[in-house]
Amino acid sequence: MSLFKLFKDDRANVDRIKKKTLKMILEASKSSYPEEFGAILRATKGIINELILLPGTIQGERSALFKLHMLPIDFTVVGTVHSHPSGGCYPSDADLDLFRRYGWVHIIVCRPYSMSNWAAYDATGEQRELKVVD
Ligand SMILES: [Zn+2]
Repeated sequence: MSLFKLFKDDRANVDRIKKKTLKMILEASKSSYPEEFGAILRATKGIINELILLPGTIQGERSALFKLHMLPIDFTVVGTVHSHPSGGCYPSDADLDLFRRYGWVHIIVCRPYSMSNWAAYDATGEQRELKVVD
């Protein structure tokens, strides 16, 4: 059971992302290529609007991306984002394990990292909608 699920709040209802933030994710994924890019998502009033970069987690194996003990516990944190330099925008088994344990909304971006090469998932790995807003 996720630690966060012990808290009652509205972070499960995050349903939008700022276009600026999405662009930042795609740009960072491009410049990290062929390495994977990863960050934590922050939201205010249901809108994902900020990234928190985790030092030391950006390079390397997909499964080692997010070290859970390093993840911040903070009421604006809603989930994670990472890139798939090879492969589609679908969660791997390691991703699903992470999703179950941390956060409510997770974004995966894939090549060629254009505005349509991303997908959002909930804690169970089901794809969910995120509206891009200005
Ligand atoms: Zn992944």
